[in-house]
Amino acid sequence: MTPSSSLVHKLEDYKPSPWLTPKLELRFDLDLHMTVVRADYDVVLSSETIQPLFLNGESLEFLSLRIDGAIVEPSEYQISPTGILILHPPKPNFRLTIENRISPAGNTSLEGLYKSGSMLCTQNEPEGFRKIVYSIDRPDNMMRFRVTIAGDLTLFPVMLSNGNLLEERVDAGKKEVIWEDPFPKPSYLFALVAGELVETKDTFITQSGRDITLKIYVEKGNEEKVSFAFESLKKAMRWDEDTFGLEYDLDLFMIVAVEDFNMGAMENKGLNLFNAKLVLADKKSATDESFEAILAVIAHEYFHNWTGNRVTLRNWFNLTLKEGLTVFRDQWFTEDMTDPAVKRIKDVLFLKEFQFPEDQGPMSHPILPKSYKEMNNFYTVTVYEKGAEVIRLVSELIGREKFKRGLKHYLSKYDGQGVTFEEFVSSMEEAAGNQIPYLRNWYHRSGTPLLSVKEHYAKDSNEWILDITDTGGNEYPLVFSNSLAVFDKEGQILKEEKRLMSGVRDQIRISALDTNGTKPIVSLFRSLSSPIRLDYNQSEEEKQILAKVETDGVSRFFAFQNLIFDWFQKSIVSGQEEYFSIILETIADSFGRNWDKTYHSFYLSFPGLTQISENIGCYEFQKIQKLRVWAVQTISTTFTNQFQVLFEENRKTIPIQTKEEIGKRRLKNISLYYLLYDATRKFERLAVAEQREAKHMSEEVSALKFLIEVDSKEKEKSVNLFFDKWKQDSLVLDIWFAAQVGTGENRLEITEQLENHPQFNVRNPNKVRSLYFSLARNPLTFHKEDGSGYSFLAKRIKILNEINPQMAAALTKLYSPVSKQKGELPQIAKRELETLASLPNLSKELGEIVGTILSSL
Ligand code: ZN
Repeated sequence: MTPSSSLVHKLEDYKPSPWLTPKLELRFDLDLHMTVVRADYDVVLSSETIQPLFLNGESLEFLSLRIDGAIVEPSEYQISPTGILILHPPKPNFRLTIENRISPAGNTSLEGLYKSGSMLCTQNEPEGFRKIVYSIDRPDNMMRFRVTIAGDLTLFPVMLSNGNLLEERVDAGKKEVIWEDPFPKPSYLFALVAGELVETKDTFITQSGRDITLKIYVEKGNEEKVSFAFESLKKAMRWDEDTFGLEYDLDLFMIVAVEDFNMGAMENKGLNLFNAKLVLADKKSATDESFEAILAVIAHEYFHNWTGNRVTLRNWFNLTLKEGLTVFRDQWFTEDMTDPAVKRIKDVLFLKEFQFPEDQGPMSHPILPKSYKEMNNFYTVTVYEKGAEVIRLVSELIGREKFKRGLKHYLSKYDGQGVTFEEFVSSMEEAAGNQIPYLRNWYHRSGTPLLSVKEHYAKDSNEWILDITDTGGNEYPLVFSNSLAVFDKEGQILKEEKRLMSGVRDQIRISALDTNGTKPIVSLFRSLSSPIRLDYNQSEEEKQILAKVETDGVSRFFAFQNLIFDWFQKSIVSGQEEYFSIILETIADSFGRNWDKTYHSFYLSFPGLTQISENIGCYEFQKIQKLRVWAVQTISTTFTNQFQVLFEENRKTIPIQTKEEIGKRRLKNISLYYLLYDATRKFERLAVAEQREAKHMSEEVSALKFLIEVDSKEKEKSVNLFFDKWKQDSLVLDIWFAAQVGTGENRLEITEQLENHPQFNVRNPNKVRSLYFSLARNPLTFHKEDGSGYSFLAKRIKILNEINPQMAAALTKLYSPVSKQKGELPQIAKRELETLASLPNLSKELGEIVGTILSSL
């Protein structure tokens, strides 16, 4: 490979690396501005003939290069902005020593080695390692790491890296440590942390009786907020043993909570780095949602130790091999720890709200992308969440027991290797004992499959016939798992079946003898047994029956949601509020059902603007908003008594994380939400009281958000009260920033005030997410007809392009739906994106996204 290898990386061009570096000794002499890094590599030729050796390196200050100890003449290498090319490596095996300098404090991209709060830390996935040291920075180059860290004792009393601590010494104010990781790993799994951190500790005994030390490192003052994270970690460790027989493989497992972090968390071997918001929690300052997110993400990163680290990737195209699989594992884990139906509802809602639109828009790509310019842009909901759906589909097709066997088989067969989705799929087929035709096409086809269903009655055979067609399936036919159930008009379940649909067509025949002659009511792809969209013209009455009696709680929930979307569809077209009683009746029915409280709260929650617009394919947000307010008010006045009762019944909650208490909080909050839409506004005092007397952050935040959403006259007081109480807690303030801009019209002015707030910081990704991402997800403001939202955000993206290209690019993805907007909006967006495209220092990250969206305009 040449240093200026073409801008686009293509899957079809993948070639194994001609050189490898199986062993590496790294030395860091830490300094905030001038850290010196030295790497000693064992270089090994892995192709037939000796050829030039290229090492990646970006933003590095080159110092020196030696081969087998001897300085290499400058005429023997070429340095470029992307790395160093050694023209004539002398032999197939040699030792290469290379030194460079970096400035962690000057690194605002938060990739490579950078400063956050009182620590230096790293983020290397996918290609950050090259910003630390010259290296063959690709996942198929596995290395045994030995890492020496040296630096000032007062600045860096804690010094961490992967694996085991071998040595530690202090001499004349200088500290030096040596870490060694016995497991070979690619560069992206390397981590280093150094700084003033508080260590907290726990232990775990594995199934085979080994003692594992668990440590969580936090900045001073946060040491009281780690107990939930420890509990989550221990649950995840136990679950992976119980479910898959997978045990942890080092004696030490560390987590570090980092304030400035571009993503959620990172699975570095033995040393996971986390966005602080996904570690720190106590009942006063964390919502139920953040507790659940902590449980899930701690598990996710821990599960990567096997699916990702022990068996890793051959190349970045195969990212979904570790991410889709690990998301599926963490979803399964949370299903087991909480409630399977509720967890599945949350996951499907997320998929529909974020992944389906991505897959229908300019960013659409297969879970195995064919090409990329900047890999950072491909940590997408498609690779992660659709990827997880494809793995779930495998488990549906072969059953969970065979899936477990298949996973164990895969992990033992490929332990220590970098592989592709093919090795995973064939392992599953080996466990299943048969091939799964068309499964591989799920990796190559983009877009959400749209399956159309046509039904008719066949007189001669006295059957009801459903013809299912995968409308876009000719190029890449797929395999589907179709869990279905048949009900009669009275809501009796007549039959349940799990069907395999292989290819573009399937035909389901239901004998009229089984339905007493009446038309059957069929529920297809229950619990979304395959990641598809359905075009199935069921009548309102049929949907309503399913919304009441479907025994699959997930499908029951979505049947009701579909009734709501149908109502919007009709009302938008007719321009008035259509017949609403079918929705009211269904809600009335739900009060008598005695469902699990959390489940019931989900059932009652009314879809938001973005969900509605995506589901009905309408982007006139003002109109949708008007109808939505009418609908919520109507529900509110119809069921005032019921909501009051639910509110009072669930008012006294205990601030603990149990299913019962979480359910009470949710049901109370949803009741309060509807009550606040009462036209008399007489229930606002309840929200005010909730906020003042809250024992749990979920109560406090809900009151705040609802008062803002209904534009209560108590709103300002509520906002100020919240701030005064929480001004010391940066993570809680993130919620406060978000709540003020995330809903409602004309939020640009308040956003401008808030970005000048002393506690806003554009260099902190959590703050950027709470302010700018929330704004861009508020359609009433962002997609306002005059285009002011687009121009406003573009100015911020321009600034972020210089500071943190990953954040700039991620924010720009929110322009994806602009081509669907009305009036001048697509043109205005085009103008703004073209301005970004011509920025003098346009980053690769931003350039790729802007280009992709522009090509859709
Ligand atoms: Zn992951």
